[in-house]
Amino acid sequence: PYDVLVVGGGPAGSSAAIYSARKGIRTGIVAERFGGQILDTLSIENFISVKATEGPKLAQALEEHVKEYDIDVMDLQRAKRLEKKDLFELELENGAVLKSKTVIISTGARWRNINVPGEQELKNKGVAYCPHCDGPLFAGKDVAVIGGGNSGIEAAIDLAGIVKHVTVLEFASELKADSVLQERLNSLPNVTVVTNAATKEITGTDNVTGITYTDRETNEEHHVELQGVFVQIGLVPNTEWLEGTVERNRIGEIIVDKRGTTTIPGVFAAGDCTDSAYNQIIISMGSGATAALGAFDYMIRN
Ligand code: FAD
Repeated sequence: PYDVLVVGGGPAGSSAAIYSARKGIRTGIVAERFGGQILDTLSIENFISVKATEGPKLAQALEEHVKEYDIDVMDLQRAKRLEKKDLFELELENGAVLKSKTVIISTGARWRNINVPGEQELKNKGVAYCPHCDGPLFAGKDVAVIGGGNSGIEAAIDLAGIVKHVTVLEFASELKADSVLQERLNSLPNVTVVTNAATKEITGTDNVTGITYTDRETNEEHHVELQGVFVQIGLVPNTEWLEGTVERNRIGEIIVDKRGTTTIPGVFAAGDCTDSAYNQIIISMGSGATAALGAFDYMIRN
């Protein structure tokens, strides 16, 4: 059996595996897609000490660093069930069962897609999901934010300080964000809010050139010319497979304490799949290290 079995091979899982292996304990890592979300990221400029890099390059560096250690890497494998017997048993979709004394869950999250024509085609060509990451790429340009919840309005406020103009498109008849955020938004000169707006298409061939939406009240179609679209309709944690095991909050994030401990002793979690306040590469790596040290502390006491 493993001493530590890490589920998920993004920044959090890689960090957890390296920290564990450096304790000289038997470590394995199972990942559906080694690298995680950074594989879908073009430029990364906020991974401190690395001025600028690209997602796939950072993913490769993660893998090389993991492979420096005696870690069993099981890539292209999806976990489907976790059970506590004598040891923890992790069942994979291919039927294999892995046993371990402790488990670190770092299965990350995925941005909810708006699923309109142009979204997939123009990803990283003007369609973006992370204002902290990609906002500066749109300095001086016109952008739209789809979604009027807290994350959408936070994004719009953030972007308004960088870009020329922000159009917020909300599907419902009113914004759902906290009123303090709405007040802040309304005080900004370069933001337009459109409610009852059903996004129909993101236009452009090489890069985003505009967005088309239907006014749900009048059924009229409108087109706005712009260079960027931030989709902000939610981040979904990849934790559905944990139903009935560790405690999760209302939106499915695993609840952890300051050591990365979940509600099941011996099971730890890190990164975007947890209820951490912010989701960033540097934060995920830090929490992966925390969970690994937490798991090691647990092991030497049990
Ligand atoms: P993830 O990266 O989501 O990794 C999860 C891992 O778990 C993957 O290996 C996945 O395949 C695996 N997995 C999922 N389910 C299972 C399962 N059932 N069984 C086995 N494996 C499973 N952050 C920044 O700091 N700077 C940026 O510039 C930046 N830009 C971004 C741009 C985009 C387009 C996106 C989508 C995100 C961006 N982020 C950025 C956010 C950053 O990528 C995430 O915060 C970070 O990747 C989270 O790391 P993680 O390890 O927790 O999860």
